Amino acid sequence: MSAVIEEVDVAVVGVGTMGAMALWRLSRMRRPDGSPVRALGIEQFGGVHSHGAFSGESRLFRAAAKEGRLFTPALLESRDAWTELGRLSGRPLLLPSGVLSVAPSGHPDVAATRAAIDDHALPFRELDAEQLRREYPQFHVEDDDAGLLDVLGGALRPEAAVYTAVEQALAGGARVRHNTTVTAIDPADDTVTIVTTDGVVRAGRVIVTAGAWTAQLLPELSDLMVVTLYGLSWFIPRDIAAFMPDRFPGFMRDLGGVHAFGAPSIDGYSVKVSPHLDAEGLELGHPATVDEAPRELSRAQLRWMGERAREMFPSLDAEPVRWSVHPDAETRDHRPVIDTLADGRIVVASGMSGNGFKLAPAYGRMAAELAVQGASAGVHEEFSLAHHRRSAAG
Ligand SMILES: Cc1cc2nc3c(=O)[nH]c(=O)nc-3n(C[C@H](O)[C@H](O)[C@H](O)COP(=O)(O)OP(=O)(O)OC[C@H]3O[C@@H](n4cnc5c(N)ncnc54)[C@H](O)[C@@H]3O)c2cc1C
Repeated sequence: MSAVIEEVDVAVVGVGTMGAMALWRLSRMRRPDGSPVRALGIEQFGGVHSHGAFSGESRLFRAAAKEGRLFTPALLESRDAWTELGRLSGRPLLLPSGVLSVAPSGHPDVAATRAAIDDHALPFRELDAEQLRREYPQFHVEDDDAGLLDVLGGALRPEAAVYTAVEQALAGGARVRHNTTVTAIDPADDTVTIVTTDGVVRAGRVIVTAGAWTAQLLPELSDLMVVTLYGLSWFIPRDIAAFMPDRFPGFMRDLGGVHAFGAPSIDGYSVKVSPHLDAEGLELGHPATVDEAPRELSRAQLRWMGERAREMFPSLDAEPVRWSVHPDAETRDHRPVIDTLADGRIVVASGMSGNGFKLAPAYGRMAAELAVQGASAGVHEEFSLAHHRRSAAG
């Protein structure tokens, strides 16, 4: 076995979205004797990279999640943390543009969002087709469309957010080894042995936040999550001023059976509109591993995305001015996995299913507390391995 290069209390494997947030939380935690928790992040790439689930300029923050009202407390906690991180660093991480859902009246996703709003008395606005046309002329609106504005929503800056969380973690005493790949995790004795390309790290606990790579490191999870791919696309509108954050919200649009999401212009010349590639023959599919995932979109996929984007926003040029493909880990019911293995020595926070960025501060706290305290408030039963195993069996 290679030489032991580090001994720490908690190692975080994968310093992307969840890993950066877990490390930030760990850097504020204490051991029972009052001394700081010795925390080390291990990341296969450099600081902020474009290979994982977090890159692509913006991520939507929704305070009211269509995925279910059980997420609202963690979303509100995360919103406070995004604001705190932005204040600490001087980088605005959450653009408070609101998030507007536009869909045919009675659409189940909008009904679920409305239920989350009602449950927690969140601020909102409902708009009928006429109001939508008047206030948001960027959208093509059908007569039976309705709008729901999540007032606390907005657009997050994911690269700046990951950078900031790591920066704050380092300032708090945590350390990170970049360009270091973990090849094995062995909880055989009372610590955990983490084999890396630089040597062995011994840790009391390990938090695995390896995103779409998680099942490669922990094969026992391979039945519970698959690699899934998402395409992003940006388009040039005739009048960019109408798509800037002061006039254009983050949005989710359902039109003609196609779902799309996007954010206001950040670069000042293009706007992100990403129709979900689920038309027959154009799906991105589920590669066995991230290494086998295509990182390009075909001409047919780009044309389809452009045509759908232009149907939704008629002033866009239908040629995507840029695009990208990103991997995430997806569970069967799109609930995350936040739980422990090996008598608590391994904590897993993965399977974010295209939905995790906005929740990362809360999930990072949960992972850090599971590692240091053995328990954490807010970890829902639906996040447990037992739940996911039942879901896989049934
Ligand atoms: C295109 C796209 C759009 C999305 N839009 C939204 C949105 O609008 N709102 C929202 O809330 N969520 C959204 N999501 C989901 C969200 O971005 C992801 O759920 C979240 O970023 C996943 O975080 P993660 O930490 O699990 O993975 P990642 O951020 O990918 O982090 C995993 C890290 O682990 C590292 N790693 C992996 N294996 C190893 C190893 N062996 N050794 C060392 N390091 C390793 C990787 O390099 C990476 O840095 C979107 C996702 C995608 C892909």
